[in-house]
Amino acid sequence: MKILTNIVNSIDRETVEFLDNHIIEIEKGIIASITPQTKNTAKSKLKDFSKSVITPALIDAHTHLPQLPITGNYGYELMDWLNNYALPSEIEFENLKYAKDLSKKFFEELKRVGTATAVIYSSIHRESTNIAFEEAEKSKLRIFMGKVMMNQNCPKELCENAIQSLSESYELQKIWHKKNEKLQYVYSPRFGISTSPELMQEAAKLSRLNKTFLQTHINENKHEVELIKNTYSKTYARLYEEAKILGSKTLLAHAIHNTKEDLDILQKTKTNIIHCPDANLFLNSGQFPLRELENREIPIGLGSDVGAGTTLDMFQIMKSMIYRQDHLIPIESPFYYATKGNAKILETNGGEILEEKDAEFLKIDFKETVKRPQEILKKLIFSQDYKRELLIF
Ligand SMILES: [Zn+2]
Repeated sequence: MKILTNIVNSIDRETVEFLDNHIIEIEKGIIASITPQTKNTAKSKLKDFSKSVITPALIDAHTHLPQLPITGNYGYELMDWLNNYALPSEIEFENLKYAKDLSKKFFEELKRVGTATAVIYSSIHRESTNIAFEEAEKSKLRIFMGKVMMNQNCPKELCENAIQSLSESYELQKIWHKKNEKLQYVYSPRFGISTSPELMQEAAKLSRLNKTFLQTHINENKHEVELIKNTYSKTYARLYEEAKILGSKTLLAHAIHNTKEDLDILQKTKTNIIHCPDANLFLNSGQFPLRELENREIPIGLGSDVGAGTTLDMFQIMKSMIYRQDHLIPIESPFYYATKGNAKILETNGGEILEEKDAEFLKIDFKETVKRPQEILKKLIFSQDYKRELLIF
């Protein structure tokens, strides 16, 4: 298949390229070639998207499926919000019919907003997570997902014992990890408060042994960080380092209130940090130290963190990323993180429109012609006056 179109591609945090009137040739879901249109191009053999702009499909590196229905419940900071809204939504996810319907809706919503790849927490429930994976498989999206692991300081309905948590996670991993090229299992201990260091350590062992990612949260809220310090008499990153969960296959959401020791550990272990600016604004968690992490070359990804994040729409998350900083950042930066940057962290073949990459595009139709790449990004991020369609070949 050949498509005639205009391409917007991220190069790095400060650069996008714009290729107008180019032909993308796709073979078996992979981009075979990208060439400029010439006079000799036979138009009859082309799919004509010459009035549209094509970007790489978007990637969401951190979100919670069961929490979709509780987005927008404003009024609390992290710990109270978890107890009042997030955890009750996960208790409800135990119901299998509910889990199936919600999973279907969640993946449809990802498609609607143009996200082809997402990294997801389910709930602690084995069977509901299995059902969520079945729906993920049907969706044809690239889904990294795992059941939440928690064994302390949690409501009784969500408290597992460590053995059960590990065996159920492992069973799901055996069924779903790389069942096809689109699906991966992710070991998902919730965070240091509700997952014991011993359970974290065992989960990390299984993750390393089976070459999966592991995801959890770190340094999101001042009160939470205080709790960690009072419980373990050490910093958050030190706790995680001693539990041996850090490294390049680990995704840590937030990292807002870091000590210097924390940053040294994250940098040394090359651990990935997933920035979730919309959730940080919503829960009044604080300002992500973007510049500091970039200067230390700590790998950064971008996530919606629904349901503290108010939307799965990664263009809205890019807008929040810009608003969350106290200085101006290049418009190209959030676009980089939501496409090429996230793909790099997740080691996927998406996130860029280049030869040999997966053909996963977002087709954009503006009301008028927009031809400068920065103008295109500004419209995508700050206006909602356009149509979008996810194309996966
Ligand atoms: Zn989260």
